[in-house]
Amino acid sequence: MRVVRVALDVPLPTLFDYQCPVDAPASVGQRVLVPFGRGRKVGVIAQTNVQPQVAHERIKPVAHVFRDEPALDADVMELLFFSTEYYHHPVGQVVMGALPQLLRRARVPKNTATRAYRLTPAGRALEPSQLPQRAAVRRRLLAALREAAVLDLAALRKLSPAAARALPELERQGLIERVESTAGEPMRPPLAEASPTAGPALTSEQVQCVQAVVGVLDRFAPFLLRGVTGSGKTEVYFAVVAEVLARRRQALVLVPEINLTPQLIGRFRARFPEVPLATLHSNLADGERLRAWRDAQAGRARVVIGTRLAVFTPLPDLGLVIVDEEHDASFKQQDGLRYSARDLALLRAKRRAVPALLGSATPSLESYANARAGRYTLLSLPSRPDASLPQIRCVDTRRERLHHGLSQALVQAIGVRLSRGEQSLVFVNRRGYAPALVCPACGWASPCTRCSARLVLHLKARLLRCHYCGHEEPVAAVCPACGNQDLAPAGHGTQRLESALAELFPAARVLRVDRDSTRRRHAFDAMQEDIRAQRVDILVGTQMLAKGHDFPHLTLVGVVNADGALYSSDFRAAERLYALLTQVAGRAGRADRPGEVLIQTEFPEHPLYDAVRRQDYAAFAEVGLEERRQCGFPPYCHQALLRAEATRRPVVDDYLMRAARAGAALGMPVQIFDPVPPAIERVAGRERGQLLVQAAARTDLQRFLSAWWPGLSDSASRSVRWSLEVDPLEV
Ligand code: ADP
Ligand code: ZN
Ligand code: ZN
Repeated sequence: MRVVRVALDVPLPTLFDYQCPVDAPASVGQRVLVPFGRGRKVGVIAQTNVQPQVAHERIKPVAHVFRDEPALDADVMELLFFSTEYYHHPVGQVVMGALPQLLRRARVPKNTATRAYRLTPAGRALEPSQLPQRAAVRRRLLAALREAAVLDLAALRKLSPAAARALPELERQGLIERVESTAGEPMRPPLAEASPTAGPALTSEQVQCVQAVVGVLDRFAPFLLRGVTGSGKTEVYFAVVAEVLARRRQALVLVPEINLTPQLIGRFRARFPEVPLATLHSNLADGERLRAWRDAQAGRARVVIGTRLAVFTPLPDLGLVIVDEEHDASFKQQDGLRYSARDLALLRAKRRAVPALLGSATPSLESYANARAGRYTLLSLPSRPDASLPQIRCVDTRRERLHHGLSQALVQAIGVRLSRGEQSLVFVNRRGYAPALVCPACGWASPCTRCSARLVLHLKARLLRCHYCGHEEPVAAVCPACGNQDLAPAGHGTQRLESALAELFPAARVLRVDRDSTRRRHAFDAMQEDIRAQRVDILVGTQMLAKGHDFPHLTLVGVVNADGALYSSDFRAAERLYALLTQVAGRAGRADRPGEVLIQTEFPEHPLYDAVRRQDYAAFAEVGLEERRQCGFPPYCHQALLRAEATRRPVVDDYLMRAARAGAALGMPVQIFDPVPPAIERVAGRERGQLLVQAAARTDLQRFLSAWWPGLSDSASRSVRWSLEVDPLEV
């Protein structure tokens, strides 16, 4: 009899033993169905040929082995086991959590064949905008097919409920044709035809970057590509990917949540029109995600572009890992297994002996320190091939009366753009009308009753809304504390700037882009289309607009209210502000027209703004790293954060104090700080607390966590919810 050890989705740090029939060998990574409790559970075999701890007859047999499916690749299993140990998370949850939802169920839909459509040559020749304006649905469908090459019915229906009627019509017109798309068949034409279309001739700087990576495709080599915004990093990726594909290997491209836009995917498809490409992100329907995953696993998809979860995708021919915008916080998972996809991507590349290419205009100081220390090869692209960098200026707002947060200089600059028919972007990091409603008489400032936060004034919806817990209440007409009738908005959000700009420039078309205005599916896509087609003059937006989007007619960016992060208690706040401002500034003047950036600030001499103005990342990073070294912050130490929450404050404090004492009793070379409340202590009626642990050496921290972790759940009462985060981004 053989015994296998199975990973199951249960919150326990253990694997479970089952008997497996001797005549039908099952391997590590194979999906199985096993009896568990009173029911059955799907799991994945983690070990075979196990010496069981209990008598054989007490071990239940596996109910079913999914033999018709390939087992998970060994390197994916290894990556998952590593994650379990490094991030101290239950093994079964780590393994099962990495699978597409449908594979966590016993019954996987057998036939994933679906009806799909693609453009005919006539359809490709037709610009969607040539269709009449009122044919909005057909225009949208054609535009989407242009970007995605092949889309199945479900995806097209999601674009518009009227797709079911419009598709046969487009088919009759000979603009689109039907294809069957089946998981078991090749997605698209064979690889032999897979040469990329021509891109711009690379600059000598780009060529150097490409050669550096291509020279070592047969082994692990980490690179940090630092290139100013618009310097052509994506072109470098394309050239390296082309070489990887030519060697019949697969490329994995990880991008931040917000950057996985149809635009980027469209660029990849346009450059590699014959190459089967799969995208993996959290917005896919379950069936789509399973199909993309299986295409990758079977080697059918040759390029996989995805957000952080894609780091666990099985790729039999993996030849390269790219992490674009490697500094982006969305590579860090914020619940469950709190992993860093960037760090795991490097590890994966190492295990598979392939290069890892991290790219950013503003690398994380951790990665930059690695490059400076020689652990990564630093590649740089210091200039834009097709445009000059924007002119960046600070506008001193200390002596000026602002008009709804807007300075005279910014208003004038917007006016100039309007007269030239160019676009402006006003960037503000707050949605809503104003961050609070205040009473000047008594100081009342719209507190949320459930959180230690203020309710944000949403004038359009006539509501005060909590951005932490979602609580809403009508806008108070009189002060609830003193009865004063003159309540006033405090501070500026996107809605307030939107209405101020509409009032100042009545003829201009103002578009607000934030989480509220883009809530509807595809609203953001449609807005981007409007912006590129110049149906918008002034944009007001949050960081949704900061990254990755290319708007050729945008020549002015105004930044309102960025000062908050300069004196934050979070030691990473400055780094995030620097990255954000660089990204926003990068939106201005990409094409032939030079861009201008105006940063409104009360601290125009601050060194951070100075570095942004000179676009001198190296100077910023040197100062930042030196500060971190002096204060003993990462990367000069390694941290873990224990978080806890409960309805009553004493319960939280007591739990964390006991955890701290238990940690100290281990007598290991780590520093355990006192428990403290986080910046927002109370959310949705639950009190929060946290305990920071740090060590000079990563191995010391890991040894400590291994010893400390088992006790954390033992000492937690039922009313405490806790989690442990290794390498936290916010402490
Ligand atoms: P990044 O990814 O660094 O922001 P992109 O690769 O998107 O930069 O390039 C920015 C712009 O410059 C794009 O419009 C791109 O087509 C163009 N570009 C990139 N490399 C070259 C080149 N060698 N010659 C001309 N234009 C280029
Ligand atoms: Zn009052
Ligand atoms: Zn709240």
